[in-house]
Amino acid sequence: MNNREVIWGEMDRLTKAGLSQLGYTELELERAAELTYQINQRKSKEDVVIPAHVYQRAEILYGVADFVGDSLKLSRLCAESPAKKIVFCGVRFMAETAKILSPDKEVFLPALEAGCSLADSITREEICKLKSEYPGVPVVSYINTTAEVKAESDVIVTSANASKILQALFQKHDRIIFLPDEWMGRNLARELNKKVGEELIIHNGKCIVHEGFDPGAVEHYRRQYPGVKILAHTECSPALVAAVDFAGGTGDMLKYIKNTSASSYMLVTECGLGDMARAEFPDRHFIPMCRLCPYMKATDLAHVLKTLETPSSEQRIELPPELIRAARRPLDRMFELST
Ligand code: SF4
Repeated sequence: MNNREVIWGEMDRLTKAGLSQLGYTELELERAAELTYQINQRKSKEDVVIPAHVYQRAEILYGVADFVGDSLKLSRLCAESPAKKIVFCGVRFMAETAKILSPDKEVFLPALEAGCSLADSITREEICKLKSEYPGVPVVSYINTTAEVKAESDVIVTSANASKILQALFQKHDRIIFLPDEWMGRNLARELNKKVGEELIIHNGKCIVHEGFDPGAVEHYRRQYPGVKILAHTECSPALVAAVDFAGGTGDMLKYIKNTSASSYMLVTECGLGDMARAEFPDRHFIPMCRLCPYMKATDLAHVLKTLETPSSEQRIELPPELIRAARRPLDRMFELST
């Protein structure tokens, strides 16, 4: 088989995986195929695994990822994988979480600019200040936090298990600190019937993607698309969450689509989830109302190939052993409380 035939074969594979449904042109498919082929060749010769968050580019999800999911699923699968090397297609706090859970593995973040506005919204100093203002009050941190902030927390949660874990903790505590996401904190307080600032102390962190959605648009879209089911991520504002049909994490949103049959769906979150839903459920109709996360979209196939071929020291995630031990405790507590 000559090189052209190899690339055509790879284009065919990407088409069948769902990329053509997402509007990729022939030229885009060909460019992607040249890179996915090289990445997969390289992968087959190395003990490496590529996890990818659902907000990553579709050519990563369907072209090179070994597993795809939300933060919780990815952190679990990374820890279970026997591979010695992880090339994490996501953002920095996710790659750090993989390193905390798998300290003996080499973990790489392909794009150095892949940060997160939520993770950047609170520092170790700020969490320590909160702890001294509210001595003895348990600190529950969203997984979108740096390793230093995790190390100062009592329990980590994800959007999939935050409600369940907070409910369990409120059985024993009158007051809990939740950080850093203000909107998620307010949504949880409303769901659990707790007073913000008294029973649930929150921080002012925001996701730059989810804070930008306008709750007023929901009624407009309902009039324009009768029967539409509107789903929102719990990082959206309480006003928007109150106006939609379902709110949850990315995994829960996909489950909702699987278990319902509406005339159309609108996913109010990062655009990657809509791409994935269109590829996974080709018989359903999706109306766009999404935003791109510049951090999540920072990683492309060229970064992944470069990381496999010649990784730089900056791409390697290094954390001191004592920080790994301290940040591991609240993650283990999450696994205990969410089973
Ligand atoms: S979508 Fe929001 S929470 Fe997720 S990585 Fe981007 S900024 Fe962070």
